[in-house]
Amino acid sequence: MSNGGYVMETTPLFNRIKDIYLRMTRAAMKAERNPEEVQLIAVTKTIAIDAIRDAVDCGLRSFGENRIQEAKKKIMSGEIRSWSEVLAWHFIGHLQKNKAKDAVQFFDLIHSVDSVELVDEIDRQAGRVGKVQRVLVEVKLAAEETKHGIAEDELLPLLERIRGKKHVTADGLMTMPPFLDDRERVRPYFVRLRELRRRAEAAGFSLAELSMGMSHDFEIAIEEGSTMVRIGTAIFGERS
Ligand SMILES: *Cc1c(COP(=O)(O)O)cnc(C)c1O
Repeated sequence: MSNGGYVMETTPLFNRIKDIYLRMTRAAMKAERNPEEVQLIAVTKTIAIDAIRDAVDCGLRSFGENRIQEAKKKIMSGEIRSWSEVLAWHFIGHLQKNKAKDAVQFFDLIHSVDSVELVDEIDRQAGRVGKVQRVLVEVKLAAEETKHGIAEDELLPLLERIRGKKHVTADGLMTMPPFLDDRERVRPYFVRLRELRRRAEAAGFSLAELSMGMSHDFEIAIEEGSTMVRIGTAIFGERS
């Protein structure tokens, strides 16, 4: 690496990251996709700053957090701040309107936009600081009460709303399928998100990114077209 850091070639963390990249590459090639189309986002919620530093030393550059307060503390810390030029932060949790200002300040991409009100607020906050905020629209494909995201039939109206904004741009779609022990049963949700993108593109929207796939199911997500996998436990171990 050219950053003056050191690669910890023999640590368990390095080996886990290497293993994930190998599995990502294999899944992409199996689907006859270019492995470079798929980005690894390391999910660092509840993970300590030291471990994030180690992951940076191993070469990771994109990180996902799901709580604004926790993320802010990490991003502003001395250890992490010196890297800010080369790191990308992804907000992957549910975003409340009153946290939009912080999200705009700290995150390169917000994966979880799911309401007109949130779009309006992100646009307002991004406008204040002269930023164009990149977002993904989170679609709820499972009927579970606990899941966030918009319903399928709200997708095109929300994309239309975003298209009318100067300071928000929609780069793609995100979904979180239910956790199912049998990973093959998750596949239809990934197929569905890809199909929704196809329809949105037929309606004139350009949506390059599909954020789908986690530790448990990322290979299947890649086979079905994922461009961003969000992986926590497979990199850092079980969260306490
Ligand atoms: C925690 C989380 C992940 C990562 O989950 P793992 O199973 O640890 O890989 C991915 N996406 C979202 C939205 C999350 O909250």
